[in-house]
Amino acid sequence: MTSPSCDGLPLPQLAQPAIQSGRHAARQVERLVKGHPTVPLVYHDKGIMATVGRRSAVVQLPHGVRARGTLAWLAWLGLHLVTLLGGRNRLVRADQPVLALCELGPRRGRHRRR
Ligand SMILES: Cc1cc2nc3c(=O)[nH]c(=O)nc-3n(C[C@H](O)[C@H](O)[C@H](O)COP(=O)(O)OP(=O)(O)OC[C@H]3O[C@@H](n4cnc5c(N)ncnc54)[C@H](O)[C@@H]3O)c2cc1C
Repeated sequence: MTSPSCDGLPLPQLAQPAIQSGRHAARQVERLVKGHPTVPLVYHDKGIMATVGRRSAVVQLPHGVRARGTLAWLAWLGLHLVTLLGGRNRLVRADQPVLALCELGPRRGRHRRR
């Protein structure tokens, strides 16, 4: 679940807000258990990476660094594999994007014409 940042503005429904707000929620539960008051979320903008299609993504980093297309998709793929998945899942999930990258021809439909 994506929550508003401490300045009240809504955060985008992307992985970073979900990760940071999830960790924050867990820390607040710990604080309440220990009898401490909760504190507001301070969101750290690490930028945005999002896939927008086949071998295509957009990357927007805090210091004005922007990329799109295959380069951005490779950056997204690398970060996705390194940070979002556990060791065993990394190997299992790596095959599909890598196969998509290696595929050269136009996308073929699943159903053959008769
Ligand atoms: C197709 C797609 C592509 C995306 N691509 C990107 C991207 O490139 N970059 C990016 O930053 N973000 C991307 N996002 C967004 C990102 O995945 C989400 O913002 C993020 O996963 C939200 O995390 P979450 O923990 O809030 O919810 P979720 O990841 O949806 O996790 C919720 C979990 O709760 C479980 N659940 C639900 N109801 C119950 C219940 N009643 N009891 C027990 N468990 C329950 C669900 O099964 C699920 O595992 C994409 C999202 C989609 C759908």
